[in-house]
Amino acid sequence: MEKKAFQAESQRLLDLMINSIYTHKEIFLRELISNASDATDKLAYLALTDDQIAVDRDELKITITPDQIARTLTISDRGVGMTKAEMEDNLGTIAKSGSLQFKQDMAAKDAGDAAAKSDVDIIGQFGVGFYSAFMVSDHVTVISRAYGSGEAWKWESDGVEGYTMEPCEKDTVGTDIILHIKPDGEEEKYGEYLEQYRISELVQKYSDYIHYPIVMLMHKSRQKPRPEDAGDDYKPEWEDYDQWETLNSMVPLWQRPKSEVTDEEYNQFYKEKYADWEDPLSTVHVSAEGTVEYKAMLYIPSHAPYNFYTRDYEKGLQLYSAGVLIMDKCADLLPDHFRFVKGVVDSQDLSLNISREMLQHTRQLKVIANNLEKKIKNELLRLQKDQRDKYEQFWKAFGLQIKYGLLGDYGAHKDMLKDLLLFWSSKEGKYTTLAEYRGRMPEDQPYIYFAAGESVDKIAHLPQTERILDKGYEILYLTEDPDEFVMSTLGAWDEKPFKSVNDADALPETEEEKSAAEQKATENKDVLDFVKETLGDQIKEARISRILKSGAVCMTSDGPVTLEMEKYFRRMDP
Ligand code: ADP
Ligand code: MG
Repeated sequence: MEKKAFQAESQRLLDLMINSIYTHKEIFLRELISNASDATDKLAYLALTDDQIAVDRDELKITITPDQIARTLTISDRGVGMTKAEMEDNLGTIAKSGSLQFKQDMAAKDAGDAAAKSDVDIIGQFGVGFYSAFMVSDHVTVISRAYGSGEAWKWESDGVEGYTMEPCEKDTVGTDIILHIKPDGEEEKYGEYLEQYRISELVQKYSDYIHYPIVMLMHKSRQKPRPEDAGDDYKPEWEDYDQWETLNSMVPLWQRPKSEVTDEEYNQFYKEKYADWEDPLSTVHVSAEGTVEYKAMLYIPSHAPYNFYTRDYEKGLQLYSAGVLIMDKCADLLPDHFRFVKGVVDSQDLSLNISREMLQHTRQLKVIANNLEKKIKNELLRLQKDQRDKYEQFWKAFGLQIKYGLLGDYGAHKDMLKDLLLFWSSKEGKYTTLAEYRGRMPEDQPYIYFAAGESVDKIAHLPQTERILDKGYEILYLTEDPDEFVMSTLGAWDEKPFKSVNDADALPETEEEKSAAEQKATENKDVLDFVKETLGDQIKEARISRILKSGAVCMTSDGPVTLEMEKYFRRMDP
């Protein structure tokens, strides 16, 4: 028998987890079941891609066995199992990078009060799921035999001192996790986790969509049938019996008809799977037939994850084929501009006898990705039209991503994304789409005007806006870095060019205005020369402006690079 200590970092995290952080101890079962399901997926995948491996799919189930007398709860699977080395690596160390993220999330949790529930979600993302077993057990035994290995190993730990390992016997490939449930305390009644009704409740709550049967031998009692010769004084008799029951409904949500899934169920699935404490803004459930058949369930989150605008964020959808997980984050299914979308794609039509890398380039995958891109856009447009509040919430969270998406790939996606844009409208006092602006435009208005600045309030006070507003024209107030680049990438909307209010020719002049201006310039030549001489190279030219009304001076630009763009470049390259 070998005895080893946990790594110091694991030790600390473990203490933290067991003793203070989690209020929802019940999630340990979900974690262990999902590990069992993952292990079963891995085996099923091997079997699908390798003819040498024969797996009887009917055997692929997860068994839960409570024992009230021994006070143990056993979770068994017929998955890939673990070799001795894998047990040491996976159960003896908590990923170092994981602990960092763990702390960041804790900080975020302390900051907001949506937090009370967020503990439920943190677990399972950082390779710490297994350790949740110690929230309800004082001792855990893991017995595992890896696929393709003749030997089995037993791993044991009380979660504090470290763990021991020794060889043992096991008939089948797979893993048994045996929890020695803690004694009941004053407040915590751990015994509930040995009650069959509590267990089936937890499975339904957290693990209903696991696509392998989760079975338990249920101890039940029933009334004996009334004997035919029973007299009037017959008293019904009861008998005990045992019966295997499948606790989960198994059919994944996305395989069920849309009409049979409630919003509650969609939201619940989202929150559990993607570790969010808020409902998604919207769900798109696709059941596609045609060249490629597939089911998809897509979610538009209501807020950006804390790392969304960083390199750490990884886009992608889960890809299943015939109920087997092929890839956890299939990036090719989502264009960058919709990288905030979460969800699942399930298709029988993917050719599976090829490696995962090759799979990314199959034609079927491309077809699915293109369809999904359109579905997402349509859903966003639907929100924009019918649920403007929600759309604005979406825009606050992900508008910047849409703009960067529009600028990316040399503007290749502008037609896909231009309808989604929102800008602040001087006229409406709220966000508007470009189509809405265009619809309100008087016939004689030559341009779609925009003004850029730090905030709506600051822009509203720019002297350059006054003349244009006086004419009754609407101005789009741009407050984000990429906005002006978006304008220049689009160039025009429905044949009306975009125009910065700073442009010298923002308001075309009539003949009279022109000659009046020329005369004014001649009259004031001395002043203009004086300004130019004083400022020298800092300006190109001083001239009498027509774009001002009550303000005395303003800066303008003539070239394609506006003042705000200049500021932006300077910020980027100090
Ligand atoms: P995660 O599931 O996030 O990777 P866990 O702490 O839940 O982290 O599990 C750690 C690792 O232990 C898993 O990634 C897996 O390699 C291994 N493992 C856990 N349970 C099982 C099991 N039932 N069968 C096979 N491997 C398992
Ligand atoms: Mg896990």
